[in-house]
Amino acid sequence: MSAPHEFDDGFDDLLAANADYAEHFDDADFDGIAHAGVAIVTCMDSRIDPLRMLGLHHGDAKIFRNPGGRVTSSALEALVLGVHLLNVNRILVVPHTRCAMTASTQAELRERVGRSAGQDVAWQQFNVVEDQRAALEEDVAKVRTHPLIPDTVRVGGFIYDVDTGRIDRLV
Ligand SMILES: [Zn+2]
Repeated sequence: MSAPHEFDDGFDDLLAANADYAEHFDDADFDGIAHAGVAIVTCMDSRIDPLRMLGLHHGDAKIFRNPGGRVTSSALEALVLGVHLLNVNRILVVPHTRCAMTASTQAELRERVGRSAGQDVAWQQFNVVEDQRAALEEDVAKVRTHPLIPDTVRVGGFIYDVDTGRIDRLV
């Protein structure tokens, strides 16, 4: 381990906060299972607070996030592990209103990121969503029909409204 002073690249405030967190840390014996039996697939959007929006607490849920809250192959990997090893018996797929991944085409995102990066980013995939409801139906079906997700696991598709905090069941 290197001494902290060897780094000077902007993480100091966070590490200071962590020192305080560790000072009061009392979860040393906490296990890694989902105590409420819940797994959530949702977007990386910073307006979403996955635990609080469902009345859950630290330790209650496995949470998988990506742009758009899509059921990707790595999301499925997480869900299979959650179901078989980590106590998950309810899965919520929760995209949200005003998601950037629904507001742009891939060409537009490549254009914007390309301008920011100062280079051609045609090689970078952006998994935009043209029809959010259709994508959600497809994603929920992917989970429900996965050979390693048993029928005893309940799977729902929802949408989170970033303006009201409300979650509606769609699938
Ligand atoms: Zn989003």
